[in-house]
Amino acid sequence: MPMSVVRRRLLAGLIGLAALTALAVIPSPVAAEEPAKLPVVASFSILGDFVARIGGERVAVTTLVGPGGDAHVFEPTPADAKALQGARVVVVNGLGFEGWAARLVKASGTKASVVVASTGVTARAAAEDDHDDHGKGKHADHDHGKAKHGGHDHGAVDPHAWQSVANALVYVTTIRDGLIAADPVGRETYLGNAARYAEELTALEAEVRAAVASVPPGRRRVITSHDAFGYFSDAYGIQFLAPRGISTDAEPTAKAVAGLIRQIRAEKITAVFVETMTDGRLVERIAKETGVRVGGELYADALSPKGGPAPTYVDMVRHNVKLLTAAMIGS
Ligand code: ZN
Repeated sequence: MPMSVVRRRLLAGLIGLAALTALAVIPSPVAAEEPAKLPVVASFSILGDFVARIGGERVAVTTLVGPGGDAHVFEPTPADAKALQGARVVVVNGLGFEGWAARLVKASGTKASVVVASTGVTARAAAEDDHDDHGKGKHADHDHGKAKHGGHDHGAVDPHAWQSVANALVYVTTIRDGLIAADPVGRETYLGNAARYAEELTALEAEVRAAVASVPPGRRRVITSHDAFGYFSDAYGIQFLAPRGISTDAEPTAKAVAGLIRQIRAEKITAVFVETMTDGRLVERIAKETGVRVGGELYADALSPKGGPAPTYVDMVRHNVKLLTAAMIGS
């Protein structure tokens, strides 16, 4: 037998011995088996990604509103209630984003702790004047079809806080602490994972700032049909203007479109964006009539499926910034 094989066997034996010794000091016999993962439910795909990054191998994440879904108008099923029943931690955005969450948590009878990920973020007011067609209490009136994302009522505060990377860092800390509280044994894992992820997000923040800085200030003005970018706008100095005077609930009139064309010219808009979950027909029609570039699909409230342009939060921010800067520069 060659010497190296002997050494390897000896080494394996020593490792086995070390493992046995380690087992001997662990009080619970259950610990010898594969430890059960902490069941965590996240309300929507972006939070699901955060939880997966921070929880790593210790958690099993179930996301209620998956990639491409619309958490504003989600209608939970009995399967969702069941997922909640088995959960130890439920992570929601808060700020009125998931109007259905509180009732679902209550109805499920879950004993899970509820972590409101936006805790600690400075909330901004919803941009009421940019979409004054969204009357209060209108939510129940409109049809929940896929074209209706822009037509929901956001309430008094803007819930889309994750669109600022600095806020995402706050989310990470809140989620990390929520996981530690529910699973104190995993403390070191959660601290380590969160610290690594925070480093990545800090680098991402710098990347976004550098990209926006490359655009002449006068060109940082775009139109979207959904007001999900208020925090992004505040953080990075890009103006997102709503298609003014146009209802997202109904076909625009010729007069409304003419008004919007005037707005695009008067406000020196450089690009018009279509988002996921938004009917693109309106913005594309406007782009055609003004010659303003249609910049593509920005991801606002949901990640893309795997293999798409925004399967993770970091990918989503990168994708959005790349589209925005390219369109604003006019390259
Ligand atoms: Zn939204």
